[in-house]
Amino acid sequence: MIYLDNAATTRPCDEAVNAAVNTARECFGNVSSLHKMGIEAEKLLNGAKNTILKKLGLQGELYFTSGATESNNTVLKGVCDAYKRSGKTIVTTAMEHPSVARVCDYLENNGFNVIRLSPKDAFYNFEEYIAEHITPDTILVSCMAVNNETGYKVDTKKLYALVKRKNKNCMLHVDGVQGFCKTALYGDYISLSAHKVHGLKGVGALYVAKGCRFTPQLLGGGQQKNLRSGTEPIEAIAAFEAAVKAYPTDLTHYVELNKLLRSRLAEMDDVYINSPDLSYGVPNILSFSVLGVRSEIMLHYLEEKQIYVSSGSACSKGKISSVPDSFGIDGKRADSTIRVSFSMSNTLDDINVLADEIKSGIKRFRR
Ligand code: PLP
Repeated sequence: MIYLDNAATTRPCDEAVNAAVNTARECFGNVSSLHKMGIEAEKLLNGAKNTILKKLGLQGELYFTSGATESNNTVLKGVCDAYKRSGKTIVTTAMEHPSVARVCDYLENNGFNVIRLSPKDAFYNFEEYIAEHITPDTILVSCMAVNNETGYKVDTKKLYALVKRKNKNCMLHVDGVQGFCKTALYGDYISLSAHKVHGLKGVGALYVAKGCRFTPQLLGGGQQKNLRSGTEPIEAIAAFEAAVKAYPTDLTHYVELNKLLRSRLAEMDDVYINSPDLSYGVPNILSFSVLGVRSEIMLHYLEEKQIYVSSGSACSKGKISSVPDSFGIDGKRADSTIRVSFSMSNTLDDINVLADEIKSGIKRFRR
């Protein structure tokens, strides 16, 4: 089996699985309990928080959530509610994940102005282009650090500086799901997900810089300083921490895999790379279009060979996405997109096998 769909989810690493099992066996207390078992669980939670903050290289608060979908919903709704008296405008992008995009639609239907910007309109200076659209009425900018479909990368530190220069009261939210452990992240609020970095599904985090507010979206027992109620899933949090600790820091292997795949694809006629070159994109995601072979046809052909890739989420379970268009990828090229996303355990051999199978897929299906 060759698994090349790591932007969708990753295989939980042994360190994460062991941490979850050991915590379930030895440290399963409720963080809110006043006795020793609760205190031990709280210690573990605080340790995990520190590990993740250290990996981010940021100081501030970290709240555990059920995943980045919840983190994104919480920030967008919670920040708009907390700062609604200061303004009504949100600046975001047309390349966002649905867990940002659909919440922006919701906020738009509830009286906020939403400006959606496309990378295709300012590919090489998107940060400046976003800042140009900020007005005194803008309370929030929400922009992902790395696009999940193409690997396109935004310099969030630069964006942060530009946002604050334009309007010091405007908050920056960064969906950091695909960037975490791969590139530097910066913002007032940053969403993270464990299962994209070899942790378990069902847990994520929301980083909040000092002094930045949001209205909680889950009310109940008042856990996590009243900002995210619900018993903390300590086993999954322990696994998240272990995965972050185990994530390699030298990522040059991604570059080797990426370069090999690009060179193998260059041997094939009418195969176009959709991802930016490596100075504007992360090396672990490579999107390309095999003209004349629809994405699903190629995906299932590769699946028969036990190679797992994605159709580039040009559609998610049948729903058309606006993301390809935001990169200027349209028509036949959008229909034939394949997204390959690596983990550090993929080998150069995996890439050669993939490329050979794409070649035979083209021979069989291209029309
Ligand atoms: N944001 C981005 C960029 C993603 O790629 C994903 C998952 O695909 C999410 C958010 C949602 O993350 P989760 O699965 O943790 O809800």
